[in-house]
Amino acid sequence: MKIKFKIKRYNPAEGEPAEPYFQAYTLDVEEGMSVLDALLKIADEQDTTLSFRRSCRSSICGSCAVNINGFARLSCATQVMPEYAKMGDMVIEPLSNHVPLKDLIVDFNPFWSRIEKVAPYLTPTSRRARRRGDVPARENDGARVTARDEEAIDKSQRCIMCGCCNSECNALEIDDRYIGPAALAKAWRLVGDVREGNSRKRLERLSEEHGMWNCVRCVHCTQYCPKSVSPLKQIESLRSRAMKEGVLDNPGAKHVEAMADSVKRVGRLDEAAMTFRTLGFLRSLGMIPFGLKMERHGKMPKPLLFPQIENIAEVRDIYEEAERLEKEDRERKKG
Ligand code: SF4
Ligand code: SF4
Repeated sequence: MKIKFKIKRYNPAEGEPAEPYFQAYTLDVEEGMSVLDALLKIADEQDTTLSFRRSCRSSICGSCAVNINGFARLSCATQVMPEYAKMGDMVIEPLSNHVPLKDLIVDFNPFWSRIEKVAPYLTPTSRRARRRGDVPARENDGARVTARDEEAIDKSQRCIMCGCCNSECNALEIDDRYIGPAALAKAWRLVGDVREGNSRKRLERLSEEHGMWNCVRCVHCTQYCPKSVSPLKQIESLRSRAMKEGVLDNPGAKHVEAMADSVKRVGRLDEAAMTFRTLGFLRSLGMIPFGLKMERHGKMPKPLLFPQIENIAEVRDIYEEAERLEKEDRERKKG
């Protein structure tokens, strides 16, 4: 069967300024052929100038990630026929949120810089700190890693650094200083490791601007990760650990506290009050133009007219039960 592939080409060496353009190739494809097989065949038989990365061909190295029909995927793990049957097209582009260097090859230096920012290696507790006993009990117990301990970080260890999650990340698209899902998944690999001796400091750094609280929970990273790392789940684990460890002096944690208090108080989100608690008085003043715009469109919540929902007692019962379970869990861990 003959299928047309539209591939985005870009070669800054061809002249200034180089503009990306699509080039079409028609290829005979067979059942079982992957997109990477197709790219290799095009490069072999039709156009030796076509550039793309690849190595293992087995979803292990992560180097062949490209955008296929609009979504980041490993080209070696995507079959042509089912993709064509579903989409009726084969459009191949470089990963989004990455700067193209040539054709489908993108600059991965920013990706590695983000990973470097989370210091991607264990920093075990120093002997002196262990002797002083000024580290949490589990961190003091570096020699033993139970199956349960391992399970907590298991998914984050599966990352092959392909960049698909960063390519699909909405937060990264609007803030190129955001640390991104791949680095955050790696951060949980370390913070969640019982041998790590620096988790509190790591959580403080990750709570800074452009860190873990910038995620907008769009779930794209989890949806498009080819190794089921579930970066959003790891980000949630980081946030939850930061809250438990009292890393609260940042807008993200304040927002969570304000949201929980609001639901407990009135059974719903009192958004105006939340803005003040999240941003503080001075930064909230900067939201006034936005507030006026909302008012004009009839979208401004009225803080003083914010009644409790009818069955607020049921909501408070849920909170009580959650607090009881958390206390039980803390005591079980201590024991
Ligand atoms: S869930 Fe968060 S980290 Fe994941 S893609 Fe969306 S914004 Fe990015
Ligand atoms: S988390 Fe998944 S999508 Fe992101 S770099 Fe790792 S393997 Fe790729």
